[in-house]
Amino acid sequence: MSKYMNSRFSGLEAYTPGEQPTDMQYVKLNTNESPYPPSDGVIAAVNSEEVSKLNLYPDPTCKALKDAIASLYGVKRENVFVSNGSDDILNFFFMAFCDEREHPVKFPSISYGFYRVYAELYGVDYKAVPLNEDFTINLADYMANDANVVIANPNAPTGIALSLDDVESIVVANPERVVLVDEAYVDFGAESAVSLTNKYKNLIVVCTYSKSRSMAGARLGFAIADAELIADLEKIKYSTNPYNINRLTMVAGIAAIKDNDYYVNNCKKVIEAREYTVKKLVNMGFEVTPSKANFIFAKSKDIGGKELYLELKKRGILVRHFDTPAICEYNRITVGSREQMDKLLLTVEHILKEKGENI
Ligand code: PMP
Repeated sequence: MSKYMNSRFSGLEAYTPGEQPTDMQYVKLNTNESPYPPSDGVIAAVNSEEVSKLNLYPDPTCKALKDAIASLYGVKRENVFVSNGSDDILNFFFMAFCDEREHPVKFPSISYGFYRVYAELYGVDYKAVPLNEDFTINLADYMANDANVVIANPNAPTGIALSLDDVESIVVANPERVVLVDEAYVDFGAESAVSLTNKYKNLIVVCTYSKSRSMAGARLGFAIADAELIADLEKIKYSTNPYNINRLTMVAGIAAIKDNDYYVNNCKKVIEAREYTVKKLVNMGFEVTPSKANFIFAKSKDIGGKELYLELKKRGILVRHFDTPAICEYNRITVGSREQMDKLLLTVEHILKEKGENI
């Protein structure tokens, strides 16, 4: 840290993104990207005509993109906020609604690591609430109306989802607080809470194009909520970066909505590959949480989490390992194509066999 940096950040531990190594070609199962490319419509939309307009700023109101999202989700434009990835929206949420005194926040202790980073970045009073032993959320911990709530549904890295009724019970129990439901992985089999946003003024549902819509590289996230909450987020956006969606991402985002069927079908393929992989891993002696996401959270009885991660990496397969003690025996494995999963399974089988022979 240089002597110039604000000392309030001296203890801040920044978020560590999944590795993106370039030393060799990996089977990349570590950052929950889609194995499928964007739709033909998206590829056609990002054309030289659009590139030739890059001398001009994009529409700061993002009207056409918001309208496309609003029509797909059956809400109004005023209920939609768009930004540079859903991380950006989480950032705005912490900035807009949380602080060190009257607006504390709580979230599960095992969840998306960025919640804690944002809370610390803004000096917010936060509580990381332990999960049950089986990694499920204890609903009773979120019923006190004493803090904003952030919950990933399905949760990451466990993939375990809450039912819509459970999400609604949290929203109802916290009328004086904002409840943010992070639905980055909802399209892979969980129930979305978007339908509740016209009923409750304190619910924000955050979604992303990065997973089910194959656009992690375009950086596009959106939130759906009551118009007043959206206006609050807009205020923060116009106070930080009014042109938060670039022209190419804007046209790609609109085209992706038009090709929704393509993405729904890809999600089906990912779900099938997930169930197939889970079955095989369980047969190999893995313990696996019931994932409704595009990743599998798995622990072997025969090999440690870190060791398996390193052995897979050596053999050209990247998965995500977290050093956090409570989950260090697990790996989070992104569900790719059936071909990628077969490669993973075969490699795991080899590693376990080799290990067995060396005992
Ligand atoms: N929420 C969760 C739970 C995630 O795992 C991720 C992906 N790292 C994000 C939000 C952010 O996704 P993006 O910024 O690519 O939309």
